[in-house]
Amino acid sequence: MAHTGLIRDDAYLEHITSDFHPEHPDRLRAVYSVLEDRELQDGIDRLEAREATAEEIQWIHTESYYQTIESTRNCGHRQLDPDTHVSSQSYRVAKLAAGGLCALLDAVCSGKVKNGFALVRPPGHHAEAGRGMGFCIYNNIAIAARYAQHRGLAEKVLIVDWDLHHGNGTQHAFESDPSVLYFSSHQYPYYPGTGSVEEIGREPARGYTVNAPLAGGQGDEDFIQIYQEILEPIAARFEPDLVLVSAGFDTYYRDPLGGMRVTEDGYAELTRILMRMAAASCQGKIVFTLEGGYHLEGLSQSIKRVLLTLQETGSPPPRSPSPSGTADGIIERIRAVQKPYWNL
Ligand SMILES: [Zn+2]
Repeated sequence: MAHTGLIRDDAYLEHITSDFHPEHPDRLRAVYSVLEDRELQDGIDRLEAREATAEEIQWIHTESYYQTIESTRNCGHRQLDPDTHVSSQSYRVAKLAAGGLCALLDAVCSGKVKNGFALVRPPGHHAEAGRGMGFCIYNNIAIAARYAQHRGLAEKVLIVDWDLHHGNGTQHAFESDPSVLYFSSHQYPYYPGTGSVEEIGREPARGYTVNAPLAGGQGDEDFIQIYQEILEPIAARFEPDLVLVSAGFDTYYRDPLGGMRVTEDGYAELTRILMRMAAASCQGKIVFTLEGGYHLEGLSQSIKRVLLTLQETGSPPPRSPSPSGTADGIIERIRAVQKPYWNL
């Protein structure tokens, strides 16, 4: 039985923000220490990361932005914006984050491992073509989606973004491209301000952006309801060749930046839903990459549960959630705007 592939590398600790910045190397230190737990010793293959090439990064980013980041090499601490910091090693670490995810895709798509999780930083989903923002430098998942297509690993890619924040950079990278379907659940209105229900993509890709903006306070059962009632039927019709997940854990109930109530059990169940979708359309090919998540114990324990879930076999049936009812309205609104494209 093939294992779950893991990208981890102490080099990811060398992107230094500041002691008071929530996106701090201690996040990954906490996650890496959990990987030593006995339950995670079997069933996981550690894979070698590599740096993304300039060409791969420029499938998503402009040459001038790429060069701006390159110019920060060995220059000490600087700020791209009030949230987004770089240090001397950040250029190299950011290339290693995007490239590590691409290396993991190679391993999953070749069958060397059955699925995988890239435990990398800096995160990526806010990074736009021409600028970094929201703690993100290069858009790792967008680069990886293009990598899969350029390498012939997948024609149609589904990106699921369960981070607390809307992945504006990812949405904008693919909003006119029907070969990549972007689904995001996120707190709204909230940083970065994008991600309304009405943002559904542009011609010829209307319906290929699906946003589930949530007011805050939603928990496991609400998310399960949204993923089963909205995402699962859309994914069944889209039939992706590969599922990529922007896995942020700032929807955790104790996260200092968020207002959601997701628990470790919730992340496990959402993982099962995504695995079921991937099994139905693409032989289970699913790859997670780390985005946010700022409660260190919640982050590390939630990732542990996702990794244990990724090693489960068989396809559990959909669960009957007991939602709070606060997601009903948004589900109806999503159905209304997406109905012409997905017959929801
Ligand atoms: Zn986030």
